[in-house]
Amino acid sequence: KCVGIEKCGGLCLKACPSGALKVKEPEKSLADDSMISKIEIDRALCQGCLKCASACTARALTASGYEITVKEAFERVDNDRFFFRKGGGATISGGEPMFQFEFTYNLAKKLHDSGLHVCLDTTGFAPAERYLEILPYVDLFLYDLKHMDSFKHERLTGVPNELILSNARLLAEKGGALQIRVPVIPKLNASWDNLKKTAEFCAGLGEAVKLIQLLPYHSLGRSKYIRLGWDYKLKNVDPPDEEYMSKALELFVSYGLPAKLH
Ligand code: SF4
Ligand code: SF4
Repeated sequence: KCVGIEKCGGLCLKACPSGALKVKEPEKSLADDSMISKIEIDRALCQGCLKCASACTARALTASGYEITVKEAFERVDNDRFFFRKGGGATISGGEPMFQFEFTYNLAKKLHDSGLHVCLDTTGFAPAERYLEILPYVDLFLYDLKHMDSFKHERLTGVPNELILSNARLLAEKGGALQIRVPVIPKLNASWDNLKKTAEFCAGLGEAVKLIQLLPYHSLGRSKYIRLGWDYKLKNVDPPDEEYMSKALELFVSYGLPAKLH
């Protein structure tokens, strides 16, 4: 939708406090064949202040997401209560909802106290005390295990895995219920050795594990990355084949785990 700085006067450029917007090479406008210069965002410099989105009258840059209070979020869920099937409820997701702990804690408590089933979708990468605090109000933790080798986990996600694994053990020990998702990404974490270690770890969590989802990598996110101007790092990765995924499923089931594909 960008009409080019020639037409709008570069409103976003003037609004950006950190010089994160760059002018691209002129290109032909699809509207009238004139030459226009669009902008691109340098993600390394962008502070996420959204001033560019407020300034852009062409709505080429827009903010997605909005602020909401616990009360408003609760009411929104509560209004739909009638439509929930038996066992339905609310999932608090993110980003990482534990990074906005006060909001997440209060919302989980309010939902739980009102009789709704509460899921918390978390990476497991937050202080242990916070998981203990929120545990009484969460019926099910949706939890990702991406790699059992901490060094490789850090290369893959930017953080080591010790805290994630110890939080999973802690939640299991204290009576939490876990639905564990294991993305299976060839060349990154799909080695048999890693899958075996993941299955062993999950088996060690005992009854706390309600379900394991083995999620074969797919490339559907690629277009979103391109749209956002992000570097898509899995360009050379193909989805795992069905036979490999079936064997992976058999492996988890052989540990007595309630596992399924997808
Ligand atoms: S993004 Fe909006 S404000 Fe920025 S150059 Fe394009 S049309 Fe103008
Ligand atoms: S969101 Fe990023 S690009 Fe937009 S004005 Fe703020 S710093 Fe600049």
